[in-house]
Amino acid sequence: QAHLDRIAAVDGDIHAFLHVNAAALDTARQVDAARAAGDALGALAGIPVAIKDVLCTLDMPSTAGSKILEGWIPPYDATVVARMRAAGLVPLGKTNMDEFAMGSSTEHSAYGNTHNPWDLTRIPGGSGGGSAAAVAAFEAPLALGSDTGGSIRQPAAVTGSVGMKPTYGGVSRYGAIALASSLDQVGPVTRTVLDAGLLHDVIGGHDPRDSTSIPDAWPSFADAARAGLRGEGLKGLRVGVVKELSQEGQGFQPGVLQRFRESLALLEAQGAEIVEVSAPSFDYAIAAYYLILPAEASSNLAKFDSVRFGLRVEVPGGTVEDVMAASREAGFGDEVKRRIILGTYALSAGYYDAYYGSAQKVRTLIQRDFDAAFEKVDVLATPSAPTTAFPLGSKVDDPLAMYLNDLTTIPANLAGVPGISIPAGLAPEDNLPVGIQFMAPVREDARLYTVGAALE
Ligand code: GLN
Repeated sequence: QAHLDRIAAVDGDIHAFLHVNAAALDTARQVDAARAAGDALGALAGIPVAIKDVLCTLDMPSTAGSKILEGWIPPYDATVVARMRAAGLVPLGKTNMDEFAMGSSTEHSAYGNTHNPWDLTRIPGGSGGGSAAAVAAFEAPLALGSDTGGSIRQPAAVTGSVGMKPTYGGVSRYGAIALASSLDQVGPVTRTVLDAGLLHDVIGGHDPRDSTSIPDAWPSFADAARAGLRGEGLKGLRVGVVKELSQEGQGFQPGVLQRFRESLALLEAQGAEIVEVSAPSFDYAIAAYYLILPAEASSNLAKFDSVRFGLRVEVPGGTVEDVMAASREAGFGDEVKRRIILGTYALSAGYYDAYYGSAQKVRTLIQRDFDAAFEKVDVLATPSAPTTAFPLGSKVDDPLAMYLNDLTTIPANLAGVPGISIPAGLAPEDNLPVGIQFMAPVREDARLYTVGAALE
């Protein structure tokens, strides 16, 4: 009730939610009744959670921020949603996002802007700006996001929240409306590292419905966070500072670099060893990503054909193609159309090797840079984003400027490694939140929870 009251009080200004779950209170009461009856309940039973609208929910619309899916109610729950319900968590509603998770500011949503709770004239990050804003504005204690190139970590950074992109294959993608299937991961957005670990424990682990899901058992991420809170894990920890992503002249706001360096000094004071490492191929990460992502997205979005899902624009006397074209013309926004055109072009005969093929080679080089770095260090550190939250409207008409904001987050997706963003204080020049990102080798997500909680 407190969270519903908070939503009623502030969401008119924030607009984090696209849909509030009318059944939330009833569900919470059922969990209370089960608790009173002595049922064994998980640690998060009864806690409300805000769900990014990219995740399918049986009882609520799932639009992925697009007009083409307006009002669509899926016939099934995403695995992560089903697991939360089974653990007694209470779905609070669906949160705003850039259309099909394409963007860094949530301004590409078909349903209006979300405002950063720290400064309503600023972006909440993207694509999962709604989830991060809901957490930062105390409308929800926990949220779920999806991260294809930073959409959990960058919104967390610019709203002073914690955001975790798990190892690729660590959390099921079943029922997550696909953007780029080789990059997408679902993960938690929370106010503390321990909260993120608790939620990750609920949603993660093998799912036979996702063919890329890792079959191995995982350690408890909540326990990993608790170890960090006890001050364990930093002594002798080798933290690699990525040279290509931490210097002046790389587009970083001075206050972001200042807080980043102060966080490193705090780690050093607790016994960590700070080492500079080089990852030369990271310079090409944005270029490679913005070919691979549109290529995969153009294929994934082909299913929105006006027959199976959502919007259908009738064309009297028209052919099937006319109906599909009219529906996609009306249903998709500009950024989605831009990426479909780019991706279709990059995949077309005669261009495939030059664009998609080259980008895949760069992806391999980036993976090798990570491998080489992790021979020398246990975790890598970078600022989570180059700047604090920028003003609404300042980049929305300049796709390249928007894409450059993903500088620090994209490499982890290209390599499938886990990454976490932790609050690192406020930038002195604008008093807005800064995030520090840590990345670990594939399957070493627990390390990030320990380091993150120790720094917190
Ligand atoms: N900003 C990136 C993009 O526009 C990241 C998106 C994401 O992680 N879903 O593609």
